[in-house]
Amino acid sequence: MKVDLVLRNASITRHPGLVDIAIRNGLIAKIGSRISCEAIAEEDLEGAFAFPGFVDSHIHLDKACIMERCSICKGTLEEAVRETARAKAGFSEKDVYQRASALVEKAVMHGTNRMRTFVEIDPRAGMRSFEAIKRVREDYAFAIDIQICAFAQEGLTQEPETEAMIDEALRSGADLIGGCPYTDADPAEHVRKIFALARKHDVDIDFHLDFNLDPAKTDLPAVIEATRTNGYAGRVTIGHVTNLSMLDPGTLAVVGRNVADAGIALTVLPATDLFLMGRQSSSKIPRGIAPANALSALGVRTAIATNNVLNPFTPFGEASLARMANLYANVMQLSRDADIALVFDMVSSQAAAIMGLRHDLAVGGPADIVALDAADPCEVVRASAPALAGWKRGLKTFSRPRPQLLKVKTTSCMPAISG
Ligand SMILES: [Zn+2]
Repeated sequence: MKVDLVLRNASITRHPGLVDIAIRNGLIAKIGSRISCEAIAEEDLEGAFAFPGFVDSHIHLDKACIMERCSICKGTLEEAVRETARAKAGFSEKDVYQRASALVEKAVMHGTNRMRTFVEIDPRAGMRSFEAIKRVREDYAFAIDIQICAFAQEGLTQEPETEAMIDEALRSGADLIGGCPYTDADPAEHVRKIFALARKHDVDIDFHLDFNLDPAKTDLPAVIEATRTNGYAGRVTIGHVTNLSMLDPGTLAVVGRNVADAGIALTVLPATDLFLMGRQSSSKIPRGIAPANALSALGVRTAIATNNVLNPFTPFGEASLARMANLYANVMQLSRDADIALVFDMVSSQAAAIMGLRHDLAVGGPADIVALDAADPCEVVRASAPALAGWKRGLKTFSRPRPQLLKVKTTSCMPAISG
């Protein structure tokens, strides 16, 4: 058998021992132990865990890395929206392209090869951010598949121009629509308008929803109802929904089953939720993270994602999903392997399913492969395992060799430190 590349000694899920992965014409030609083949190139993964790559189902490339342009005094959601809106008016297409490109490069080198980015489109951002992110999508297609979600961060009903601009974006390259009822003067009408635009263009929907800690303050029933009446099961995702963290287990079970029955998926955004929630408390501060594992057990498709990086919503980050999975698992006090393995799925296969994408290492499938410095998914999450290398359609997109410790022998010849 002649192949382009063979990756030797990889650890993969559902396969005991180490395997080789043979690649031809961008596709996986064979997976097995000690494959005998004629390969143009060969690489030894030395037991690294190989999988189809991390999937970031919720990130904001357009407003990332703007710390120096904003001030954070209170650390509240209102302040983050206000400060970012102010900075956004000054974004140029070049500026957004440069910041977004730099972050995409970091994400790729952390092992992410699929991503859904929100892009704000309104009278302040104009179409500038959208145009920049379309170029980023094209220029980095060699390494990562990017979905663009045309997003109404600051409402629709109080700003009718935004509706027309999002309509235009969906005609000119946006993949899906994003809504944000909590910033709209009329949340119920906002939900109706988002569904109307989604149906007009036949695209999926991703809402920022219930970003508070008051279960009574909720737009979730309106989204569930609209998902049912519009026949949109399997096409709606909700992000944050932090007020689910305040429910007792009995109530959570009822709400979770309703979300699952409606075919709505949930993305949890731990870094942002931890930073912005609970600001009114000075002690016994709630975590404010929707319990994704418990909701998954109720049948809800769940993902964990990056959301914001270095801006007033999240003044931290580097687009590493290994770190995000570790942060979530630690904060949610998880310990059992089954729970940790599910967290790994939430930054990989489950997130891909939300985006409607294939995610497996299979013969005949695309050779999209990332090698991580771990033996298995649990170790990836528990130890925030770094990425070592990645291939997209069989071509190597990055490498980050394992660091090497340089052992120095101390001897009597070491110079004495005086002073
Ligand atoms: Zn978001």
